[in-house]
Amino acid sequence: MFDLIIRGDQVVTPQGTGAWDVCIQGDTIAAIAAPGTFDDSQAGQVIDARGKIVIPGGIDPHIHSLWHIPPLEEGGEVTWTDGPDVVSRAAIHGGTTTLLDFASWQQKGTLEEVINVRKQDWTGNCYTDYGYHVLLQGAIPPELMPQIAEVIQEGYPSIKIFTTDITPSRRGRKMNHGHIWEVFKVLKKEGGIAAIHAEDDEIVMHMYDVLQREGRMGFENLAEVHNTMSEDLSFRRIIRLAEHVDGTPLYMMHVSAATGVAAIEAARAKGFPIYGETLHQYLMFTHEHYKRPNGQIYHTYPSLKETSDQDALWEGQLRGSISSIATDEICCNLSTKTQGCRIDDTTGGNAGCEPRVSVMYTEMVKKRGYTLEKFTDLVSTNAAKIMGMYPQKGALAAGSDADIVVLDPGQSRTITAARLHESDYTPWEGYESEVWPSLTVLRGKVMMQDGEFFGDRTDGKFLKRKVAEAIRNRPAI
Ligand SMILES: [Zn+2]
Repeated sequence: MFDLIIRGDQVVTPQGTGAWDVCIQGDTIAAIAAPGTFDDSQAGQVIDARGKIVIPGGIDPHIHSLWHIPPLEEGGEVTWTDGPDVVSRAAIHGGTTTLLDFASWQQKGTLEEVINVRKQDWTGNCYTDYGYHVLLQGAIPPELMPQIAEVIQEGYPSIKIFTTDITPSRRGRKMNHGHIWEVFKVLKKEGGIAAIHAEDDEIVMHMYDVLQREGRMGFENLAEVHNTMSEDLSFRRIIRLAEHVDGTPLYMMHVSAATGVAAIEAARAKGFPIYGETLHQYLMFTHEHYKRPNGQIYHTYPSLKETSDQDALWEGQLRGSISSIATDEICCNLSTKTQGCRIDDTTGGNAGCEPRVSVMYTEMVKKRGYTLEKFTDLVSTNAAKIMGMYPQKGALAAGSDADIVVLDPGQSRTITAARLHESDYTPWEGYESEVWPSLTVLRGKVMMQDGEFFGDRTDGKFLKRKVAEAIRNRPAI
C-alpha cells in the first residue's frame, strides 16, 4: 500500500525517460514501477500525469532571502528583501522544492552564531527544503579557520567568497587572495567546495573611476564596469590559486561571459574539479535590455553582457562548463528594484524563482531540442550532485525524497507578474511559457496542484549536505 502513485508516460529518471509509475510512501519514493504494476486500490491517492512531464523537484542553488539592500544615501534606511516564506512559496508554485540561501559572516561572531541567526529566519517559515552556503567576507582571522572545518562537517560544505567589493559603496566584501588561499587549504582538506563570485576588483573599481570621470554613471553602462575581461582575469587567477592547493573544487557562481565559460572549460580539460552556474536572466537578456523602461529589472551583478556571451553560456551547457541554472533571487518590489539607477547603486538580484523551471523548459526543450534528461540536470540534478544533496534530492529513484514536479503543456501561459507569487514585477512579463507546473510534491506532500496551494510554513526542512569525493576530485558532471 502506497500513499500516492503518480502515473506518467514521460518520467525523467536517472536511467532515462519513460512510462513509469512513481510510488510514494511517507517522505520518500518507494518504487519506480512499470505502468500498471500496482492498481489504484493499492494507493491512498493516484494522480494521472500522462501527457505531462514528470521530473524531480527543481533546485535553485543560489537565492537570497531577507537580504539587505543598502540605502541610496548614507545614513538612509536599509531595505530588507522578502523572507523564506515568500520566496519558497513562489518556488513551490513554480516547481522548485529545494533552495540554497546564504548565512553571511560579517567580521562579527562565530560561524555557529551566524548559522543560528539564519536558522531563526528559515525554521518554521518556509515551504521548500533548504540549506545555506556560508558566506565569508573581508579579512579572515586565523581563528576562523577551525570553525570553517567544523561547519563543513556539520553539513555546510559550500563556502561563498567574493573576489570583489562589487561596487565602491559595498566595501568589505572582497577577500584578498592570501586569505582565499588559507580558506582553500581548509576546504581541500575537510571536504568543502568554494562558491565564488569572481570579478577582478582592480579592473571593476578602475572602470567605476573612468565612467565617473566621463560622467557616464547611468546603469545602462554596467557591462563596461563589470566587463568580460574582468571575468577572464579573475576566473583564471582563482583557478590557478585553487590548482596550487591541490585542486580545491570550485563552483563559479553566476557565470556571465564567454571569457568565464572558456576559463572553466580549459580547467576542466585538465581534469580540474570546477563547475559553472549561470542565471536564466543571463541566458535570456543582454545589456541592450538596460535601455528598456525600468531596465534595472533585468540586472544582477556582475552584469548582462553581449549576445556572443549568451551564446557561449548556452554552448557551455552542452560542453559541460555550465552545470546549473540558478536565479540569484532577490525578492523585492519594483520600487526597490529600480530605486538606484547608476552604475554604483543599482539593486542586484532578480525575482525569478517561480518561472525558472518553466522558462528553462521552454528555452531548452522546446526551442533548442535538449533532451528532458539534460534539462532536468540543469534545473535540478546537477545542483544536487555538486552541492552534496544527491541522490536524496535531484532524482526520481527508489529511496530518494519524494520531491516531484509535473510540468503540464496544457497549462502553458503568458507570464505576468499578476499571476506569479513573488513581487509586483517580473523580468519575464509577456514571456510565452510552453508549460507550467500542475503539481509540486515535497517529500510526499502535495504542496501545489493546479495553482491551489496546500503548503504549511513548517513543511520545509533543513538539509545537511556532504559533497561526494568524485565531485571534488575531478569534473564529474
Ligand atoms: Zn547572489
